[in-house]
Amino acid sequence: QVIKGEKLRRKMHNRIQELRGNIRVFVRTRPFLPGDGDGVDSAVDVSPDGQSLQIYDKTGKAENNFSFDKAFPPSSGQDAVFEEVSEFVQSALDGFHVCLFSYGQTGSGKTHTMQGSGNGQMRGIIPRAVEQILEQVNLLGGQNWKYTMSASFLEIYNEELKDLLVNMGPNGEAAPNTTKNNPNKKNPKLAIKRNAEGKSFVDNLSAINIDTTDADLGMQQLENVMNSAARTRSVACTNMNAQSSRSHSVFMLHLTGYNTEDGTVISGALNLCDLAGSERLDRSGAGADAKRLKETQAINKSLSCLGDVFSSLASGNSHVPYRNSKLTYLLQDCLSGDGKALMFVNLSPTMQSAHESLCSLRFAQRVSQVELGKPTKHVQYKMGGKK
Ligand code: ADP
Ligand code: MG
Repeated sequence: QVIKGEKLRRKMHNRIQELRGNIRVFVRTRPFLPGDGDGVDSAVDVSPDGQSLQIYDKTGKAENNFSFDKAFPPSSGQDAVFEEVSEFVQSALDGFHVCLFSYGQTGSGKTHTMQGSGNGQMRGIIPRAVEQILEQVNLLGGQNWKYTMSASFLEIYNEELKDLLVNMGPNGEAAPNTTKNNPNKKNPKLAIKRNAEGKSFVDNLSAINIDTTDADLGMQQLENVMNSAARTRSVACTNMNAQSSRSHSVFMLHLTGYNTEDGTVISGALNLCDLAGSERLDRSGAGADAKRLKETQAINKSLSCLGDVFSSLASGNSHVPYRNSKLTYLLQDCLSGDGKALMFVNLSPTMQSAHESLCSLRFAQRVSQVELGKPTKHVQYKMGGKK
């Protein structure tokens, strides 16, 4: 009975989303942190309705009033935030291609929102999403649905793709400490390709199986995945924070469900994307250093391409420039009428950040006007279902 009710509720939810079809935008303002200095005056004021916010400048004047699908005040914890995205995330199980982004300046809480930290309350959307999907898969298992699931994790830096799980075994074995242990998989050349159905995929990317029959094992495998990704990142760069703020990371889950009664096969995807810092980089400083200049151009390029894709969708252009950056080409299926997208805009509450926050909110406002059309459920029928 409970399962039936739950399925019905999800069906209704998906129908409502299909009707709406636009990109949802959630704004999350982080609390003041010890490093923020005297945190008395917040530049951001979230209304009690949880949907609008105002931003103040140094003179105390409200600069603008913005409305979004959701506006989280600094007091909203990881659990409250996840509750608002859990059904969205879960629609990947129903065969949708789903994407969540976190957008904002460095230090605004993007990684905290997507990944979080530790094993408790501070966990972010990635571990909570996987945990919830594993729970749901076990419930659906009692109703003739068998799921397989795999995880990939990549980084886009200077318009180049990098596999963050290059050290792992195919079933999520704990990662060895260095890439030396796995010379075959060291630095594979990654390219975005299209399959027979016209869907984007990354050739040569590691895909780690996540066990769907044993939730504890599945969560252990996820933990190995996260640790391995962190290690790959830190091995590769001397200044991890600097690089992570200049790269996009995309955590991908691929889900395939098979109905043993009627042979239906559904395939869904969940992409959780922690974007590069949106702050304008110092061009004069970058000019002095060829590496910085290349980085600056690459970050500006992929974030501005994301903006171009959204504007093009918003104005109903028939040509959408997905191919202009790796990020938009990779996520094309989620950013077209076919998929579902949700963007978190992360804000720092400080006055020093008010200008960047205003830029982020203006970007977000444009994004929230984008209509994606009706998302597609990816279902096929296979012969000989019942065995
Ligand atoms: P970004 O990824 O946007 O650069 P982080 O997620 O790393 O920013 O956040 C910067 C710092 O602020 C981190 O120390 C993080 O733990 C902390 N932080 C961010 N958001 C919150 C929040 N909602 N509650 C508590 N601490 C937060
Ligand atoms: Mg970060």
